[in-house]
Amino acid sequence: MKYRFATEAIHAAYNPDEHNRAIMPPVYQNSMFTMKEIGEQIPFRYARLANPTRKVLEDTAAVLENGAAGFAFASGMAGIDCVFRTFLRPGDTVIAVSDIYGGSYDLLVDVYAAWGVNVVFADLTDPANLDKALAEHENVKLVWLETPSNPLLRLVDIAALAAKAKAAGALVGIDNTFATPYLQQPLDMGCDIVFHSATKYLCGHSDVLMGIVVAKTPELAKPLHTMMVNTGAVAGPADCSLVLRGIKTLALRMERHCANALDIARRLEAHPAVEKVFYPGLPSHEHHDLARWQMAKGCGGVVTVYLKNDSREAANSVIKNMKLVRMASSLGGVESLVNHCYTQSHSGVPPEVKAELGIRVGLLRFSVGIEDIEDIWADISAALDTTL
Ligand code: PLP
Repeated sequence: MKYRFATEAIHAAYNPDEHNRAIMPPVYQNSMFTMKEIGEQIPFRYARLANPTRKVLEDTAAVLENGAAGFAFASGMAGIDCVFRTFLRPGDTVIAVSDIYGGSYDLLVDVYAAWGVNVVFADLTDPANLDKALAEHENVKLVWLETPSNPLLRLVDIAALAAKAKAAGALVGIDNTFATPYLQQPLDMGCDIVFHSATKYLCGHSDVLMGIVVAKTPELAKPLHTMMVNTGAVAGPADCSLVLRGIKTLALRMERHCANALDIARRLEAHPAVEKVFYPGLPSHEHHDLARWQMAKGCGGVVTVYLKNDSREAANSVIKNMKLVRMASSLGGVESLVNHCYTQSHSGVPPEVKAELGIRVGLLRFSVGIEDIEDIWADISAALDTTL
C-alpha cells in the first residue's frame, strides 16, 4: 500500500523487522559482507555495489519521486555526471536550460563540450524555443531542465517540454533540487530522470554532501546503475543515514520554508533598498501563473533580490551587517543563509553569460530557513537599510 507523502517520507522502504527491530535504519559502516561459500548469492557483497543503509535511502527516494530506482552519490555533481556519462557520447547533443546552476554549467562546458558533446543552452521558459533547438541540432539525446532555476527562480513548463522532447526521441532529465519531491514530482509530468543535490533540502541540516538520481523505469535504471558502480562515486553509509533522518521531516520543513520565504519575499518587495524580488509565489513573478499549478503546494525557500544599489559594496554591506543570516555557498538547511551568486555559486560562469542571465553584482540569493520569521526579517531589513 502506498501512503501519502509525509507518511512515506518517514516509513518508505524500511522495515524494522528486517533489522533487529531497530526503529531507525542502522548505519552499516562496512566495506564488505562475508560469504560462506564460493558462488553464494547474497544481497550485499561489497559496499561500492550496494550497502544496506544506502539502499534504504535509494529506495525511499524512488518512492518519493514515484520512480523505479534511486541512486545515491558522494555529491550532487557526481550524480549529474553519472546521468550525463550514462546517456551522452561525443557527437550527441544535450539541450540544457540556459538559467542553470553554475556547477552544472561548468560541467557541461568544461567537461562534456570538451569531450565532443554538442552542448546547447536554450531559454526554455518559452517551450517554442525547444522546438527551435530540436530542429537546429542533430542527435539530441538529452534535454536537461532545472526549475525553479538557480538563482533567478525562473520556471519552465515541465509537462510541455517533456512532451516535446519525447516526441523528438530525447530523454528528459531534471534538477529538482529547489522544489524537492514534496513540491514537485517531475516523473509524473513526463520526465525520465530526476536529480537532487541532496546536500540541500533532502538533507536539510547542512551537514552532508550528496547527490540522488531517480530513474522512472527499470530500463533507465539499469545503465545508470552500471555507470555508478563502475565509476564508484557512491554515497557513504553515515551520510545516507543523515539524509534519511532529514527526509523524515521534509514535508514539515518545506511547509515552513515556503511560508517563511513567501512572507520574506512580500516584505522585501516593500523595502526601499530593493529594486526587484524574484519569488514564483509573488504575483509580480514572470512565471507566477505557471507556479500556481506546477508548484501548487508552495514555491520553496529561495528568494532572490536585485539591490537598487547594484554594486559590490552595497551587496557586501548587506552581507556584513546581517548577524543571523550568514553568507555561505549553499542553501536548503534549517538556517537562513545568503549567497552572493556573482562571486560564489556562479563564479565560474563568464561575465557576458552572467549579464545575459541577469546575474548582477548586486544580486543576493536568500535561502530562507525555518527560524522565527520576525527574527529573520529584522536581520535582513536592518542590513538592507545600510545601503540606503
Ligand atoms: N544543482 C543545484 C540546483 C545546486 O544548487 C547544486 C549545489 O549548489 C548542485 C546541483 C550541485 O550539488 P552538490 O554541491 O551537492 O555537488
